[in-house]
Amino acid sequence: MSWSRAGCQGPGVRLGSVASGSRTCQNPHVTYVPIEASLRCLCPELTAVVDDATASGNAAAASWRDFGQAIALSAPRPVVTSISESVRANLTYRPVGDPHYWLGEIHCRIHPDWFIALPFGPSFEETTPAAGLPRY
Ligand SMILES: [Zn+2]
Repeated sequence: MSWSRAGCQGPGVRLGSVASGSRTCQNPHVTYVPIEASLRCLCPELTAVVDDATASGNAAAASWRDFGQAIALSAPRPVVTSISESVRANLTYRPVGDPHYWLGEIHCRIHPDWFIALPFGPSFEETTPAAGLPRY
């Protein structure tokens, strides 16, 4: 795929340990890597998810590549607020709901290498952050 770039494929790539400074995304199971490097690796659909969330005030907050390859947003919502239907059709939502990890994941049907992780909110009560996306 044309979006694929050197160093973006495969798990276990360590780009260094960088603390994101995000209170909601710290997770002992993963090693954080620089967000900017990971953003360049996202496929167009997941880039659209991040751009849409960022435009809504929910910016990328952390990234890791040793527990799946992911970018975590700052909050469970807003997310997928203004995504074109053609992109939305390729997105799925996987509920996780494990307090030791995160609330859920948005995946691209076409490019399974990365996902967008949605953290729990302060109340741990948000259960449908990506309402409207099909679950898988
Ligand atoms: Zn994709």
